Amino acid sequence: MLLVSEPVLGLDEKAALAAVIESGWVTMGDRVREFEQAFARLHEAEDSIAVSSCTAALHLILHALGIGPGDEVLVPSLTFVATANSVLYVGARPVFVDIESPEIPLMSLDEAEAKCTARTKAVILVHFGGYLADRDSWQSFARTKGLLLIEDAAHAPGLPAAGTFGEAAAFSFYGNKNMTTAEGGAIIARNRSLRETIRRARSHGMTSSTRQRLDSRSPDYDVTILGFNYRMDELRAAVGLAQLKRLTEWNDIRRRLSQHYRQLIAEHCPSVLVPFTDPWPSAHHLMPVILPTAIPRQVVIDWLRKRGIQTTVHYPPVHRLTYYCDLYPDSYLPRTEEFARRELTLPLHPRMTPATVELVVNSLAAALGAEFPMEAIA
Ligand SMILES: *Cc1c(COP(=O)(O)O)cnc(C)c1O
Repeated sequence: MLLVSEPVLGLDEKAALAAVIESGWVTMGDRVREFEQAFARLHEAEDSIAVSSCTAALHLILHALGIGPGDEVLVPSLTFVATANSVLYVGARPVFVDIESPEIPLMSLDEAEAKCTARTKAVILVHFGGYLADRDSWQSFARTKGLLLIEDAAHAPGLPAAGTFGEAAAFSFYGNKNMTTAEGGAIIARNRSLRETIRRARSHGMTSSTRQRLDSRSPDYDVTILGFNYRMDELRAAVGLAQLKRLTEWNDIRRRLSQHYRQLIAEHCPSVLVPFTDPWPSAHHLMPVILPTAIPRQVVIDWLRKRGIQTTVHYPPVHRLTYYCDLYPDSYLPRTEEFARRELTLPLHPRMTPATVELVVNSLAAALGAEFPMEAIA
C-alpha cells in the first residue's frame, strides 16, 4: 500500500536511541537542549523549547500569553481539532473563520476582520499543508486590531519563515509530520521573557530542573506559576536530532514531488483543482486536490484503494465535529464546508519517487474517466 505519509526512520535513529539507553539519563538532559538549539538554528531563531506535542505547545503559548476566560481567539475550522482545543484548554472561546477560496484554503483576512469583537485577543494561523500564510498582511492586521499573532506551524517545520510571524509558533513531530520524534513538538517564541515563562510552565512551574539540581547539589526549588508536565524526553530528542539533519533534504524532495504532481494533474486530470500555486513558500506537508463537484469522492477513494493507493481528507471541518457543533451550533462557514466536501489528500512523503507520483496521477485519471456505477465498485 502506498501510504499518504510515512516516516523515514533508519540506522541513525536506532543508534541514537541505543546511545541514550547506554547513557542512563533518559529525560530532559543534554540531548533535549541540543535538539532545542539545533531546531532554533534551522529556523534562524535565538532558541526553541522542546515539548511533548504540538497540542502542548499551543496550550503553553496561550497560557503564557495570559489568554483566558472571556477572551476570543480567531482560528480556522480547516485544521486539526487540536488548534481549537488549545483555546478551550485556557477557558477562552475559539471563533471559527472561513477560508479565502478553494485555491487559497488559508484563513480569510476579510472574514477574520468581520469576526473581530472587543473580546478578540489573538489569532492562530495554520499554514495548511505547509503553505505559509501571508506574513505582512497578518502582521499589519494584528497590529491594527491589537491582537496577538500565533502560528500553528505543525505543517511547516524546516521553513525558516515559519515562526517569524508573531509572538510564538507551535511545531509538531507526530509520526505523520515532515519530521518525527513519534510524539513531540517545539515552540519558537521571539521574546525572551515569554520563552522563560513557557519553559517554566512546561515542567510544573518549577524554578529548576532535576538535572540542574543534580549539577548544583542543591535540592531547592520553588513553584512560581501554574505549570504542566509537557516535557520532551532524551529518546525523542535523540531521534529528533537525527531527523533534523535531513529535514531540509526531505522538504526539498517533497517540493519536487509536489511540482511533478501539479504538472501531471494539469495534463491528465484537467478537471481537478490543485490549491495554491507554484512557487509558494511551503514545507509541502500535504498534497491536497479538489475533485470536480459531479464526482462522488468515496468512489474515487475506493478505486484508488483497490489499486494500492491510500488517500485521506484534510480536514473534516472542526466546527462540524459533534463536540463543536454542540458548543457552537450556529457556526456557518460555507467555503470551508465546500472545500472539505471535495478535498482529497494524495500520498506525499520523501520515500516516494517521480514514478510513484505518475502511478497515482494515472490511477486518479482513470478513476475520473471511468463511468461510476456504484455497484461496479462495491
Ligand atoms: C498534527 C497537528 C497538530 C497536533 O500535533 P500533535 O503533535 O499531535 O499534538 C496541531 N495542529 C495541526 C494543524 C496539526 O496538523
